[in-house]
Amino acid sequence: MPYRLLIVLLLLIPSSMPARSTSGLSSTQLAPDIASYQMNVRLDPVTKTVFGTERIIYTNPSPDTLSEIWLRLYLRGFSNANTIWMREYGRWSGTLPPEYVGDITVRSLALTDGTDLLASATLTDTLMRVPLSQSLAPSQALALDVSWVSQLPRVFARTGYGGRDNTFFMVGQWYPKMAVYDRGRWDTEPWHSNAEFFNDFGTYDVSVNVPSDYTVAGAGVPAGAVSNADGTQTLRFTADDVTDFAFASSPDFQTRLVMASGVEIALYYLPEHAAAADTYLDVAVEALQLYSAWYGAYPHPRLTIVDVPNNATAAGGMEYPTLVTSEVGGAGSNFSFLAYVTSHEIGHQWWPMQTATNESAEPWLDEGLTEYTSSRYLAEAIHGWGSDRALAWEQSLYASRASVPATLPSWEYANGAYVVVYSKTALGLWTLESVAGTDRFRHAMASYLAQYRFKHPNGADFRAALEQELGDLGWLFDDYLSSSGVIDYATGPITNTTLGSMVQIVRKGGVRVPADILITFRSGAQQQQTWDGQANSLQLTFPSANPVVLVQVDPFRKLKAELNRLDNQEGMWQMRLPLSAR
Ligand SMILES: [Zn+2]
Repeated sequence: MPYRLLIVLLLLIPSSMPARSTSGLSSTQLAPDIASYQMNVRLDPVTKTVFGTERIIYTNPSPDTLSEIWLRLYLRGFSNANTIWMREYGRWSGTLPPEYVGDITVRSLALTDGTDLLASATLTDTLMRVPLSQSLAPSQALALDVSWVSQLPRVFARTGYGGRDNTFFMVGQWYPKMAVYDRGRWDTEPWHSNAEFFNDFGTYDVSVNVPSDYTVAGAGVPAGAVSNADGTQTLRFTADDVTDFAFASSPDFQTRLVMASGVEIALYYLPEHAAAADTYLDVAVEALQLYSAWYGAYPHPRLTIVDVPNNATAAGGMEYPTLVTSEVGGAGSNFSFLAYVTSHEIGHQWWPMQTATNESAEPWLDEGLTEYTSSRYLAEAIHGWGSDRALAWEQSLYASRASVPATLPSWEYANGAYVVVYSKTALGLWTLESVAGTDRFRHAMASYLAQYRFKHPNGADFRAALEQELGDLGWLFDDYLSSSGVIDYATGPITNTTLGSMVQIVRKGGVRVPADILITFRSGAQQQQTWDGQANSLQLTFPSANPVVLVQVDPFRKLKAELNRLDNQEGMWQMRLPLSAR
């Protein structure tokens, strides 16, 4: 999600299985088939309940033999005011208003031969530990049959109901889902309020039963619809090479379809937002095309955009594989907020939907890379904001918390500091792009994606991939992202004596990023050089016959995360910046 939505949330705080091989890749498949799901679910709009059955095929992706598996039951995080999620969220204490209660109950859990696994399973916050009657060898597959009931809350955090007569549903993080076994351990971190998800790749075949007057916006691609005698319909969706499945449903949805670069973009919007439909599609098409050009093609046949009702904007601004939610923004916003949210969520279709990082433990690899991507969209796209406004927006969020590290686990941020995961990372990467050159930087990002597409990279992998193309980046990863360092250069006074004309450049911040220095002499001549920023300061002396009249550090404004630009020059103010850098 984009962090303006996070800020809004914070303000609320008072103080038959898909026929896939289970090892390796089939000819049409791009991602390994680790956790795949076939589901039959029924949405009851009256009771705000989803009843489901699923068969999970899980293939042990590790070299280890597994004696247990773990299921995630995210909606349990909304079951009362004392869950870890709710305590961190902090909106309610004591008792949760009944309409905001969400929950998920597993009714049966068994191997396909009928062997019950539920009796020996144990619940811990938002996870279920399931001991296996027979351990699972490397590359061996396991088939589980699960039935469950999900109670949806009135939407306040991505999922739930709202809209006209409470007939709009956003159904996300809603079904019993395999946890990830990676790097020798199960990811059993409970669901945290700041955190989103960490998932394995697989295939989904999902049949959704709803009343016949409801439209379903499902992830993946539509794969048939059946009308039932009881006044319901069943809509089937399939999705390959994805890590999750979500859907929205409403009797009011209008639909628009466009093709862009071979991808079908499907917009589901509410009639009161008809005036925004063109903008939704324009932004989606442009974002999809730009990101595909920058980083590598969008790997799915369809991308679904879901518009949310005005009283359910907590469902807007969320990303699932091949499906994003957005919102029109407040009155008078001229759909510029829509452009930000939509371009941000579509950016997530690259990070983490193709690079399945652990957003809970390393959220900067997900939200940070995505915020960078959407800020570049806003700066460059026809339907964006222009470079100055895009940069100013990012800087406004970064400035007050610039010294907070951006690479902490999501649960270590409190009181709104989570914003640095987005903005500090975005400005750091934008700075690197400017320093290294846009083409070289985008090539390095594309190489990272190519190397880790459909895998589980971590921060060290990301750094190694970038450094492989761009050389040592200690200033970015050590000085800036992982520490309290800020980018802040300044110029000292110009001293003219008979011995020479002396200038000083000072590195006030902890980040040793290379900086351009531009010296202008009385004759009008200029000299440009790059300082490596390793020392605390740099002194330069020139002949007194043609003294320095102006010294500037970072005159071309490459350092997007520069904290205070007011002290970046000394000398004749009339000669300030070259026109190209104003
Ligand atoms: Zn996001």
